[in-house]
Amino acid sequence: MEIFLSLRRLLSPTTEKRQSAHGPLSVTRALAVTLLALSLQACHAQTDAPPTLPATVVPGKVAHVIQISVDALGAKYLGKFLKESPQDFDSFGRLIKEGATTLNARTDYTYTITLPNHTCMVTGRPVKTPADWPECQGHFWEWNGDFPSDQAPTSLHAVNPAGGYTASSFDVAHDNGFSTALYSGKAKFKVFTYSYGPELGSDNVRGRNKIDFSIIGSGIHDKAFADIKANKPAYTFLHYPDPDAAGHAAGYLGPEYRGAVKAVNGYLKDLLTMVDTDPEWKGRTIIILSADHGGLPGTKNHGDADQPYNYTIPFMVWGVGIAKGADLYKINPTTRTDPGEARPVYAETGQPIRNGDGGNLALKLLGLPAIPGSHINSKQDLSVE
Ligand SMILES: [Zn+2]
Repeated sequence: MEIFLSLRRLLSPTTEKRQSAHGPLSVTRALAVTLLALSLQACHAQTDAPPTLPATVVPGKVAHVIQISVDALGAKYLGKFLKESPQDFDSFGRLIKEGATTLNARTDYTYTITLPNHTCMVTGRPVKTPADWPECQGHFWEWNGDFPSDQAPTSLHAVNPAGGYTASSFDVAHDNGFSTALYSGKAKFKVFTYSYGPELGSDNVRGRNKIDFSIIGSGIHDKAFADIKANKPAYTFLHYPDPDAAGHAAGYLGPEYRGAVKAVNGYLKDLLTMVDTDPEWKGRTIIILSADHGGLPGTKNHGDADQPYNYTIPFMVWGVGIAKGADLYKINPTTRTDPGEARPVYAETGQPIRNGDGGNLALKLLGLPAIPGSHINSKQDLSVE
C-alpha cells in the first residue's frame, strides 16, 4: 500500500505523460521511470509482470494502434467510389489490398448517429441493452447534440444502466501504462475527454486522466498529425468529420460528399507515409478504420437505423502482422457471420463485424485485455492475422 501512496504523489500529470509509450509498465517499473525522471539513481524492478498476451500477437511488435473513425463513411459509397475512380481513393484501396477488411460491417442496431456509435467503439457496448440478451448491458449514451449542454446527461457514467462506471479502451490502455490520445473534428467529443478526464476517470495509481493527448476542433487532420508525430501515442483514437459535414450540407452521395471522402483519402496517405518511412512507426503500427454510420442517397440525413445505406459501414485493419488482402468474414468463419443486406440484432452468436469491435481489437493488438463491462468483441476473438 505504501508504494501506491508514494507513487500517487510522484506521478504528477507531467511525469505521467513522460511514461514510455512502448509497453506496459508495472507499478514498480513506473516508479523506476519516475525516479529516473527525477534524476535519482533508479534500478529496474525484478517483478515486471507484463499482461497476458493473446497468442497471435508477437510481444513488442505492435507499439502503436491508430483507431480511425470516418464520420458518415457509408461502405456502399466507398465501394462505388473505389470502382469508379480508384486513383482518387487509393489509400482506402491500399488498406483493402494490404489489410484485412470488409465493406459490410454494421453500426449499432438502434442508432446510426455519431456520439452513440462512437461510444460503442470505445466501450465495446451496444447503445441499448438488447431485449433478448440482458447480460449485454448498453452504454445508453443516446445524446447526439452539443456537449456539454444543460440538455445532455452530465457524463457517460451518468447513464450507466447499473449506476456504475462505463469503462473504455482509454481506461485499459492508460491503466496499463500505455499513452493515449483522442483527436476529433467535432466539439461534442468532449464527452470523452470529460468522462475519462481528471475529474471523472476511474481512480488508478496512474491517475484518473485516461486521455494523455487530445485535440478537438476544426481542421483536425493537420493538428492531429503533428501531435501524433510529436507525442507518439501508443493508442490513438482519431475522428475525421468531413464526409458527414458534406452530407448534411449538400446531400449524401453528391459531389461534395465524394470530395470529402477524397480529402480523407489524403489524410490517410499522410498516416500511411509516416508508417512507411518513420522508424518510430514503421513495422510497429496497426491502423483500424471504421465509421459511425453512412447516409441516405439524395438526402441530408442518416438517422434511420433500419436503412442499409445508414447501417452498412467499412471495417479495415492494416499494418504489421495483419493478413494481406483478406476478407474479415472469410478469416473469421466461426465467430462472425456476413449479414448480407440484413440488420442483425445483438446476440451471443452469428454477429456481423461491427464498429463496436474496434476498441477491444485495438487493445488486443497492443497485448491488453478487454474493456471491463464490454460485450462486443469482449472475447477479443475477431481475428485479423
Ligand atoms: Zn451526421
